[in-house]
Amino acid sequence: MIPYGCQHITEEDIQAVVDVLHSDWLTQGPMVPRFEQAVADYCGVAHGVAVNSATSALHIACLSLGLGKGDWLWTSPITFVASANCGLYCGAQVDFVDIDPLTYNMSSEALAKKLAIAERKGNLPKIVVPVHMCGQSCDMTAIHALSKHYGFKIIEDASHAIGGSYRQEPIGCSRYSDITVFSFHPVKIITTGEGGMAVTNNSKLAEHMKRLRSHGITRIPEQMTHIPDGPWYYQQIELGFNYRMTELQAALGKSQLERIEKIVYRRTELAMRYDEMLTNLPLTTPWKHPDCQSSHHLYILRIKPTSDVSRNRFFHHLYKNGIGVNVHYIPAHTQPWYRSMGFREGDFPEAEAYYREAISLPLFPTLTDQAQEEIIHLIKKVIQS
Ligand SMILES: *Cc1c(COP(=O)(O)O)cnc(C)c1O
Repeated sequence: MIPYGCQHITEEDIQAVVDVLHSDWLTQGPMVPRFEQAVADYCGVAHGVAVNSATSALHIACLSLGLGKGDWLWTSPITFVASANCGLYCGAQVDFVDIDPLTYNMSSEALAKKLAIAERKGNLPKIVVPVHMCGQSCDMTAIHALSKHYGFKIIEDASHAIGGSYRQEPIGCSRYSDITVFSFHPVKIITTGEGGMAVTNNSKLAEHMKRLRSHGITRIPEQMTHIPDGPWYYQQIELGFNYRMTELQAALGKSQLERIEKIVYRRTELAMRYDEMLTNLPLTTPWKHPDCQSSHHLYILRIKPTSDVSRNRFFHHLYKNGIGVNVHYIPAHTQPWYRSMGFREGDFPEAEAYYREAISLPLFPTLTDQAQEEIIHLIKKVIQS
């Protein structure tokens, strides 16, 4: 089975992890801040806070921005559920903004309309979480302008998108947001096994997120309620978690980051080959926004409902021939958990139409040209059958 995505581990990666095993530190030691600094430098952002998953990063990002009971968080329905769940962890309510049918990202027009209505009703969101689907940035200038007008905070869910850029700047530079979150799950652009990072230009938010990832404990005397009892002393000043990244993960991530350009280059090459080889077929290949360079985390086709071969038949044909196709994503608002909050089919028609048509083809740096050609061959066969 050719998977839709998979990690690439080199001998250098393995050696980096082995070196940590021979060192004095397994949990947060010198490697975690080094990895944080390397990601921050790569993205052109001031601070990085490494954690054990992007889900954890989203959670502490929301908390550091003060999200709580009575607040609203809005995100895209076409995302992994974690982008929405982080709002619920904080006791806030979650709502969605329909997608743009070209980019599959949150539509900034739909957002503007929904905000105008929410302002009248008095239920504006505290946080909006745009998700850079497949690694192509959302319309951040428009979303940023809306945040200034309506006063909400922005967390970019860039789980797909490290290595991409928007208006000539790296995704993660956080020019248009308060915090940007990356995932280092094995299918993503670079991996630490499990892992994630929140990056920000705001030193207060970074410090707060660092405290939240480790039980809400501080060792900074100025943050304590009285003078430390001694060098061993720490205080828990709020309720935090154990969301720490290990040294092993940080070493792997840092080693992977060193070749991110190569990784994204190969992904881009494969995506362009798909584009070329899939022209003149009853399929919609990904649309490229002129402001964006995607990291090409996913390659998603849309198969029109009017075409002779349905998405489902297309999926089954490829799957039974050993191609690990997938569908990203089931609209979050149609999950039973969200339905139980009152969301229904029909709430976000663009997202639902997209879901009926979408299929993700294999895309990862070690996919060979030959394997890709076999995939294309199978696609042409099912279309002509
Ligand atoms: C993968 C992913 C997440 C969650 O990442 P983890 O590191 O697995 O917690 C969140 N949002 C999106 C859009 C993702 O693709």
